[in-house]
Amino acid sequence: MELYQMTIHELHEKLVAKEISAKEITESVFSRIDKVEDKVKAYLLITRDTAFEQAKDIDEKIAAGEKISPLAGIPAAIKDVMCTRGVRTTCGSKILENYVPVYTSTAVENLLREGIVMTGKTNMDEFAMGSSNENSRFFPTHNPWDLERVPGGSSGGSAAAVAADEAIFSLGSDTGGSIRQPAALCGVVGMKPTYGLVSRYGLIAFASSLDQIGPFTKDVTDCAIVLNYLIGHDPMDSTSVKIDKPDYTKALVGDLKGIRIGVPKELMAEGIDSQVKSVVENAIRILAENGALVAETSLPNLAYALSAYYIIAPAEASSNLARFDGVRYGYRVPDAEDLMDMYMRTRAEGFGDEVKRRIMLGTYALSAGYYEAYYGRAQKVRTLIINDFNRAFDEFDVLVSPTSPTTAFKIGERIADPLQMYLSDICTIPVNLAGIPGISVPCGMVDGLPVGLQIIGKSLGEEMVLRVAYNFEQLFGWKEKPNL
Ligand code: GLN
Repeated sequence: MELYQMTIHELHEKLVAKEISAKEITESVFSRIDKVEDKVKAYLLITRDTAFEQAKDIDEKIAAGEKISPLAGIPAAIKDVMCTRGVRTTCGSKILENYVPVYTSTAVENLLREGIVMTGKTNMDEFAMGSSNENSRFFPTHNPWDLERVPGGSSGGSAAAVAADEAIFSLGSDTGGSIRQPAALCGVVGMKPTYGLVSRYGLIAFASSLDQIGPFTKDVTDCAIVLNYLIGHDPMDSTSVKIDKPDYTKALVGDLKGIRIGVPKELMAEGIDSQVKSVVENAIRILAENGALVAETSLPNLAYALSAYYIIAPAEASSNLARFDGVRYGYRVPDAEDLMDMYMRTRAEGFGDEVKRRIMLGTYALSAGYYEAYYGRAQKVRTLIINDFNRAFDEFDVLVSPTSPTTAFKIGERIADPLQMYLSDICTIPVNLAGIPGISVPCGMVDGLPVGLQIIGKSLGEEMVLRVAYNFEQLFGWKEKPNL
């Protein structure tokens, strides 16, 4: 087995035992990048030189007998929506094409402090708006399982990088499903933590009340390890929660007895591909046969989740994106006649079609006279959805569903039909509206393409989510790998 194929916990053991060095791990991962990146195109920027410097620092620490973190010397890729000091951060957009941040986002800083080796910045839909990576202003990423298909989005580059072994783990952001959906389509583990658990400081904002950073990993144990270091109160983010930091790896106990699992019928209904549905039903059977108490439940207001999301998210986006005016950041048209001309043409050229569509939707929904009818109403629907989840969690420890209604679709297949594209996140969006945690774990295949099982927990219920995910992973024993 090559080092690039291993998990964080396997590599850490070997590092501590001095069987391998951080330099060797880094060389292995870059040899893989050199071999497959031309086909996958997961990265917007590869930071090879700094990666080797970071690896060298860790090897020196080990040689000096210092204790190292479980993340030390582990190559990780970062979605290009997170600011990295001195390293170009584009957010997949022309308007930030040459933006070099002067500070690093808290989430990335938390991991750098533990000694990760940053391999580079990954491709994404522009400003994280999309479900396929086709909205990147640079190029689409390809799904490692079938290069003609999308990796999902918007964190498609981060998901593909881990699936193709071009990073041991990666970070993504999830506003409506952008970690879980690409994790499902690429056959890796992806988790969106509870809103506020991971600082959003330095995460380029899409929809601030929904955005959350989380990991892509090869297994659930690695997910718990990364989460241990990713979370924490941050005074720079006013929505950051103050809790005593748990050790999530302690939640990984092999026992499902008595755990109550609800299956929301609205997430197993019309619109879910029948083959995906039967793979997920099989996964639920495995949980039930091993001690979990499984029952159907209902979240009646889920029918309105997508509509509410497509008011709230564009409204917040239109406000967040007002700052890209050609004066303060990134791109500016070179030949403007006056200030107004500069603003207008910079934004017209700098933003892509989907971003413009969202800005128009959002400004309309927020305009005087329509504010209450749209934004106000959508917020009320959001409360109803939160109530639905709260009621369900009185009865159940976790809820399960498919992560995505279909497997990976063909590049180009949905690009002309935004509504069809928006439906890709039907199972994941309600979780963001409620601010609760969700994970996607591989649970089988349909026609050679991976399917994800989504496990949803109550607010700050990460430990229960991870425990169920871990048990499923152990029972299911999925070992498939893309053939690249
Ligand atoms: N696909 C959804 C959207 O386009 C979700 C994106 C995300 O989670 N960043 O808004």
